[in-house]
Amino acid sequence: MSNRLLPDPLPRCRRHGRMRLRPPETREQEFCGVWYRCAAPECAATALVASAGLQAQLAAQSLPGAAGR
Ligand SMILES: [Zn+2]
Repeated sequence: MSNRLLPDPLPRCRRHGRMRLRPPETREQEFCGVWYRCAAPECAATALVASAGLQAQLAAQSLPGAAGR
């Protein structure tokens, strides 16, 4: 298999299912990870697969004091 760069499972829209890759528009989005958008044009659903950098940042923020000692 050569799809190790893709998240597993892929994000899905709750109403329409399939989602498409959405190129990042800003450096912030690019940093955050891979964005997906619902394939249905009338649907504004998006999903974010967090990058390793963002996950590390979130982990550091969501554990107040836990990593202190
Ligand atoms: Zn949708």
